[in-house]
Amino acid sequence: MGTSQTTYDGIILGSGHNSLVLQAYLCKAGLKVLTIERRDTAGGGLTTLEDPRHPGFLHNTHSFYHRAINRMPWYKDLRLELHGARYLEPELNVALILRNGDALEWWTSFDKTADSFAAFSSRDAATLRRWREDFLPIVERILIPEGQSPPLPAEQRQRLLEKSPEGRYLLKVSALSPLEFVQAEFEHPVVQAGLLFFNGLREVDLRCRGFGHHIAALLASPGKAQICVGGSAALARALVSAVGEAGGEVLVQTELRRILTRNSRAMGVETASGEIFEARHFVASGLNPQQTFLELLDDGIVPQDWKQKARDFQYNLLAPLFALHLNLTEAPRYEAAKKHPHLQQAFMVILGLENISQFFEIVRHHETGTIPSPVMWGSCPTLFDPSQAPIGMHTAFMWEKLPYGLRGNPVHWDSEKIQHGQKMLEAWRQYAPNLSEALIDSFTRSPLDIERSFPNMREGDLLVGAFSNGQVGANRPFPGAGHYRGHIPGLYLCGSSCHPGGNITGLPGYNCAQVILSDLGLPAPWAPPSLFDRLTNS
Ligand SMILES: Cc1cc2nc3c(=O)[nH]c(=O)nc-3n(C[C@H](O)[C@H](O)[C@H](O)COP(=O)(O)OP(=O)(O)OC[C@H]3O[C@@H](n4cnc5c(N)ncnc54)[C@H](O)[C@@H]3O)c2cc1C
Repeated sequence: MGTSQTTYDGIILGSGHNSLVLQAYLCKAGLKVLTIERRDTAGGGLTTLEDPRHPGFLHNTHSFYHRAINRMPWYKDLRLELHGARYLEPELNVALILRNGDALEWWTSFDKTADSFAAFSSRDAATLRRWREDFLPIVERILIPEGQSPPLPAEQRQRLLEKSPEGRYLLKVSALSPLEFVQAEFEHPVVQAGLLFFNGLREVDLRCRGFGHHIAALLASPGKAQICVGGSAALARALVSAVGEAGGEVLVQTELRRILTRNSRAMGVETASGEIFEARHFVASGLNPQQTFLELLDDGIVPQDWKQKARDFQYNLLAPLFALHLNLTEAPRYEAAKKHPHLQQAFMVILGLENISQFFEIVRHHETGTIPSPVMWGSCPTLFDPSQAPIGMHTAFMWEKLPYGLRGNPVHWDSEKIQHGQKMLEAWRQYAPNLSEALIDSFTRSPLDIERSFPNMREGDLLVGAFSNGQVGANRPFPGAGHYRGHIPGLYLCGSSCHPGGNITGLPGYNCAQVILSDLGLPAPWAPPSLFDRLTNS
C-alpha cells in the first residue's frame, strides 16, 4: 500500500501483528494511522513464503503454532474471519514420540490427555488433573484478564493477589521455577521432560523463578495450538484488510531513520530516503527498546537512565531456533504410527526427547555456543491444510533450539547451516524413514537468518526480550516504560518487548490501544473492565 498524505494522527513503526492490531483499533476509533515497515510485506512473524524453486509449496518461516487465536478478543472485535482468517485446532495437538514408539500426548480433550499420561504414570495423570482443576479459576479470573490489560505495578498486583485464596495460590506456585515445579510434582522422567519442553517451549528459561505457575496455567487454558488456513500470513492479510477497511495505511519497503520530536514530544518520523511523515498525536514503536531509544531517537532526547535501561534489556538465550523445511511427495510416515495409528494425525510432533536431563544439555550448549544432540519439534502443515502445497504434495518442518552465537559467532551459521540441516534430516528419518524417498527439496533457516529478517528479534530472540532480568508485567521492557508509554508525550511502545511478551498473541498491541485511546480521551467500548476491579473482585 502506498500513502496518500504525509500527516497522520499517529504513526506505527514496524508492521508486526501487534502493530496491526493496534492500528486497526485506532483506525476504528476514527484516527488516521500509518504503519511503516522495512520489509516488502506486512505482518512480521506472520510470514508464509512460497518456495521460489517450487511453486505452490508454502512455508511458514516464522510463527506456525498460534495458540487459541480465534479466542482472542481482537480476533472477534476486528471480525477477522470476515477478512479471510480461518483457524483449525487439531485434536491430537502434540505428541512426544519416543524411540520405542510410545508417545506422550496432549489432546484438545483433557480426558484423552490424562489417559495418555496415565500410560506412563497413573500418579502423574492424577496430579495433572488436580493442577488443571486448581488452575481453571486462576486462569479465568486472574491470568487471562492480566494478559488482556495494561499491567498493574508489581507491588499493587502483589497486594491485590494476596487478598484472594486464588491469588495467594498463584503467588505461591509462581515463586518456583518451572523446573522446580515439575520435579516436585511429577515422577515419570518422560512426563517431566514432556511437560517442561512443551509447556516451556520458547516461553521462559525453565530455571527461572517466578514462572512455576506456567505449566499448570497452560494445562488449564481453554485454547490449544492452532493452524491458520492458507499459512500464517493469512492472518496478516486479514489484519491488513481490517486496517484498510477502517481507513488505515501500511507503507512497506521503507527503512526508518529517525523518530522526530518537537518541544520534547514525538511528532513524526523521517525515513532513510529523507521523507517526513508527521504525527499529530503519537508515534508507537513495535520495535525493540534498543531500536526505539538508542537508534531512532536523537541522543539528546533520551535521558541517561532510559538509555542505560534500553542497553540493559536482555534477550532469551534459549529462544533462538534453527529450522529445516521440506517439500515432500508424501507426509512423513512415523514408525510409531504402526503401533499407534492416531500418531499419524499429530499436529505438533516432538522427537529426540526422552528425559529431563536433555534440558540441561540444551542449556549448556546454548551457554557454550555448541550443538546438542537433536531434540526437535515440528509439523506437516499440509495434513491439516492441503492448500499449503500443490495437490497431493506436502510440506513439513522441524525446529531445534540452537544457540545464536555458534562457537561464539553467529556468522558461523552461514557456512554450517546446510550441513546441520542434513544432520537434522538424518535424525528425523530415524523416526520417519519414508522421508528419504519423499523428499523433493529442502532449505534451512538459522538463528542469524531470523535476526537478519527481523532486526527487532535481536540475537535471534523470537520473543523479542527475555522474561528473566525482571522483564515482566509492568517492568517489561523495563521499569518506567511498562505502560506502553515512552519517556516523552506522544511516544508509545506496542511490540513484544512489552507485556505480556512475544509470540502471536496480539496482546501488546491490544493493550497499547487501550492506553493510547485513554490518553487521547477517546472511547474504547471494546476494552475489558479495569484490571484493578477484576482482581479486586477475583
Ligand atoms: C522461527 C520462528 C518460529 C516462531 N514460531 C512461533 C509460533 O509457532 N507461535 C508463536 O506464537 N510465535 C512464534 N514465533 C514468534 C513470533 O513470530 C513473534 O514473537 C511475533 O512475531 C512478534 O510479534 P511483534 O508484533 O512484536 O513483531 P514482529 O512480528 O517481530 O514484527 C516486527 C516488524 O517490524 C519490522 N521492523 C524491524 N525493524 C524495523 C525497522 N528498523 N524499520 C521498520 N520496520 C522494522 C520487521 O520487519 C517486522 O515486520 C516464531 C518466531 C520465529 C522467528
